Amino acid sequence: MFKTEITLSDGRRLIYFDQTPGDDRARLDSRGLEPATNSSQLRFDPLSRRWVAIAGHRQNRTHMPTQEQCPLCPTTPNNPSEVPASNYEVVVFENRFPSFDFNSQDSLVNSGDLGPYGLAPGLGTCEVICFTSQHDSSVSQLSQDRIRLIVDVWTDRTTVLAQDRRIEQIFCFENKGPEIGVTEPHPHGQIYGYPFVPPRVQQMIDSALKFQDTSGRNLFDEIVEYERSSLDRLVSENESWIAFVPFSAKWPYEVHLYPKVRAGNFSRLTDNQRDDLAPIYLDLLKRYDRLFAQPAPYIAGWYQYTQADHVDIFGMHLEVFTIKRDENKLKFQAGSEASMDVFISDIVPEDAARKLRELS
Ligand SMILES: [Zn+2]
Repeated sequence: MFKTEITLSDGRRLIYFDQTPGDDRARLDSRGLEPATNSSQLRFDPLSRRWVAIAGHRQNRTHMPTQEQCPLCPTTPNNPSEVPASNYEVVVFENRFPSFDFNSQDSLVNSGDLGPYGLAPGLGTCEVICFTSQHDSSVSQLSQDRIRLIVDVWTDRTTVLAQDRRIEQIFCFENKGPEIGVTEPHPHGQIYGYPFVPPRVQQMIDSALKFQDTSGRNLFDEIVEYERSSLDRLVSENESWIAFVPFSAKWPYEVHLYPKVRAGNFSRLTDNQRDDLAPIYLDLLKRYDRLFAQPAPYIAGWYQYTQADHVDIFGMHLEVFTIKRDENKLKFQAGSEASMDVFISDIVPEDAARKLRELS
């Protein structure tokens, strides 16, 4: 893999990742952008004990641009985009409209007594990862070689960002489809570096610690072993990975993808596991394309942990789901889900698994 890092005109970092050396990788960004002013804050809700990121500057971000104005396409004379080169394989750059930013203006330093509340600057990183320079494509249409390169990019970003002690959690994810709220159709994902451990990951760690205390076993291993032997919810597997619908799926057509030998994060996967991830990930996304008449919108998010305290018990895995429960029906987070965090699903997980299995 060839890695070339440049600085955009407003000071942001951009990195090209290529399987073969690319052209004009050193070309400068000629847009002369002023550095963006970001004002992300973290506000702490004492009742739920959760942080909420408030990023007011994001209201004015680019919304559904046409291909001629796409900021993620390679630069042309008529479209000076975020990527100065005339073509690229995979590129990663810092988001100009980030939810978290180490340069966040801390306008609330002197806000005085906040009573029960907590407040912190929205420090962290938000990187955009463009999976292809082809605007009208999707990850499921990419070659297996390209997916393999993307796995290496996720590994690189996990390894590099984990070295920054201010970052406690690295989250690689893709939102696909306007139904999910995607504001930019070009195939891309994001890589967040959070300044705290998000609640879902903390819950998984707490559960694994408790399980280990009472049973002496690892909870992630226990789940994978059970699914490998029961097969009721199996979607697909290869030598290193297994994909299944979780026993208590919250979303219609939700699939979890685990390495058969546990690893805490991308950096800890073996080369064999990385090689085997490309075909099964690609196959999984193609199944989501075939679920309905139109490719299904989805969220694909990687759960991993990089810190020394619990990396040895954590089981990295992918959780992917669509919010579509039928051709023309969306699953909304309504009263019970949004207010009480209690999900009610209309689809039996074993039926979802059968349907996904048959779409090979
Ligand atoms: Zn584009």
